[in-house]
Amino acid sequence: MLITDSPILITGGAGFIGSCLAKQLVLNAAQNVIVLDKLTYAGNLDSLQEIEDHELYEFVQGDIGDSQLVSDILVQHNPRGIINLAAESHVDRSIDGPAQFVQTNVVGTCNLLDSCFHYWRDQSAEAQAQFRFLHVSTDEVYGSLGPTGLFCETTAYQPNSPYAASKAAADHFVRAYHHTFGLPVLTTNCSNNYGPFQFPEKLIPLMISKTVQREPLPIYGDGSNVRDWLHVEDHCSALRTVFNQGEPGRVYNIGGNSERTNLEIVHAICDVVDKMNNHQHCSRELITFVADRPGHDQRYAIDCSRLNTELNWQPQFQFESGLKQTVDWYLRNSQWTKRVMDGSYRGQRLGKQP
Ligand code: NAD
Repeated sequence: MLITDSPILITGGAGFIGSCLAKQLVLNAAQNVIVLDKLTYAGNLDSLQEIEDHELYEFVQGDIGDSQLVSDILVQHNPRGIINLAAESHVDRSIDGPAQFVQTNVVGTCNLLDSCFHYWRDQSAEAQAQFRFLHVSTDEVYGSLGPTGLFCETTAYQPNSPYAASKAAADHFVRAYHHTFGLPVLTTNCSNNYGPFQFPEKLIPLMISKTVQREPLPIYGDGSNVRDWLHVEDHCSALRTVFNQGEPGRVYNIGGNSERTNLEIVHAICDVVDKMNNHQHCSRELITFVADRPGHDQRYAIDCSRLNTELNWQPQFQFESGLKQTVDWYLRNSQWTKRVMDGSYRGQRLGKQP
């Protein structure tokens, strides 16, 4: 088998971003992929339905921290690289219970790195040179910004939530496996994603779902917190670019140049839904301001000029049209939302415990 024919292992590939990436790779790049996913509440095989019978796709249920399983997959499939998206990903849940975040994001990533290192060490020189471990991280590791300024790749880490702290710890282990053992790693730190197939606990799908059901729209604090938004398809195209062209050991920020306050986001969702419903209601009237998230970071904004200039990547989606497409998708796919919400989560407030 040519090395270029060997698959890419995508961990967390049944989640929001991982499923988009797996579909892009299989359908747009004719790349064979193996998805390894534990199928937690956030992972759903429904999100991979489009490729479930595709010959280039294979699914394995399991934990990234299960060293024996990961080693068996590596030896059996001989992948040319790994893109690690397996994580506990919701800040509010990390406030209610940090332990699972340490287990998956820190211990799990560390075990995954170690399994990969042992596999990589036994490869031919050519295969070693081509292998990549791409670790997908977040801009939240950098802490919070004031009204001005941007996070760049050299910004000091100042994680404020248990989620951000667990991702920061994982990023450091990834860096250490490169520095100490020479594993060819890449790290990306991306801003907030939106798009189809996002579990409806996150701001945009939660607000779409509540707007459609004519329920109160709870906004933390005064709604002035700013995030930079990137369409998930653009994030995945950036991940593919970094995986294929990035320099091992290097970090790449990914962002969408689309800063919005949370209140602006909810207003935009209300307006899109109302327009689609021929203005039968004024959904902005559903907005209610609730107690702020403990330790809520005020602003995140990304300088992704390294990715733009060195690897020539640009996002394709404009935020307004991407949001419309997303709202439209959720309206047309209420069955998907119902199915993934069949478990313990029903749109209730999480993350209140200080
Ligand atoms: P998600 O919660 O939708 O998906 C996470 C997936 O990981 C799920 O399918 C889950 O079943 C799986 N998983 C959890 N624990 C696992 C384990 N121990 N072993 C194997 N699989 C496990 O998350 P997402 O939004 O798709 O985020 C993916 C990655 O991207 C995360 O690392 C997250 O930190 C990062 N990220 C997300 C965003 C965002 O806005 N969503 C932004 C920047 C970075």
